Amino acid sequence: MQQYQNYQAPADALAGKVILVTGAGDGIGREAALTYAKHGATVILLGRTTAKLEAVYDEIEQLGAPQAAIIPLDMKGATESHYRDMAATIMDQFGKLDGLLLNASVLGVLSPFGHINLDSFQEVMHINVTAQMMITKALLPALNAAPASSVIFTSSGVGRKGRAHWGAYAISKFATEGMAQVLADEYESSSMRVNVINPGATRTKMRSKAYPAEDSSRLKTPADLMPLYLFLMSDDSKDITGGSFDAQAS
Ligand code: NAP
Repeated sequence: MQQYQNYQAPADALAGKVILVTGAGDGIGREAALTYAKHGATVILLGRTTAKLEAVYDEIEQLGAPQAAIIPLDMKGATESHYRDMAATIMDQFGKLDGLLLNASVLGVLSPFGHINLDSFQEVMHINVTAQMMITKALLPALNAAPASSVIFTSSGVGRKGRAHWGAYAISKFATEGMAQVLADEYESSSMRVNVINPGATRTKMRSKAYPAEDSSRLKTPADLMPLYLFLMSDDSKDITGGSFDAQAS
């Protein structure tokens, strides 16, 4: 097992940090938002279902962690001007962004290549690739205003080795790995680091949509992945950039 897969963060590892998590209302993003808050961060919860974001906000309040902020936004329809407005609000309120977890994505339709539907392909590519680029681009000034910022993209096993029938989703995750490499290389000598996490098979709604017949009780839970999510957000990883990491031991 890699050291970062059993990383233990001090309770105040993220104190004073402002971290934005996309897809913070459910699954891995929800767990990461709660975990970051528990370790002292002010978490900005971005997602498309306001009620889910409000539930996470309330849970953070009950923990006695720093008060969270909510950004209800559907990455399917949001344009560059939405992301620019969002970035301006973050700069006004916080003056910096220490962490960006690009977690939200969609599975789309799994099908043989010859059956790929163009609308569905474009929707997956838009949410999983184009929107991630627009969010990151808009937030670069805020990330560069922090003393040591961390950008984490979310990939998948099928983003490193193609697999039959995984079509748009797999292609979008290859693009995600590439986007992270381009950005990491460009900012190599800056205080902003850029890395990728492959969560591995995890008990969430997305996983059960991809494998409806599977016994999900055998899968790792989002909480099991958090050592790596914490490591890459904490200052203990501040010299690490351009990496692609597995959250689970193979
Ligand atoms: P999930 O349970 O489906 O959660 C995805 C989150 O993203 C949800 O909160 C969802 O919002 C949000 N989201 C989806 N489309 C959005 C949009 N258009 N605008 C804003 N928010 C949107 O998925 P997960 O399993 O936690 O996956 C998290 C990440 O890990 C994804 O990038 C996924 O590709 C990756 N991953 C997961 C696994 C796995 O086994 N679970 C394996 C490899 C990689 P709603 O709650 O409102 O739907």
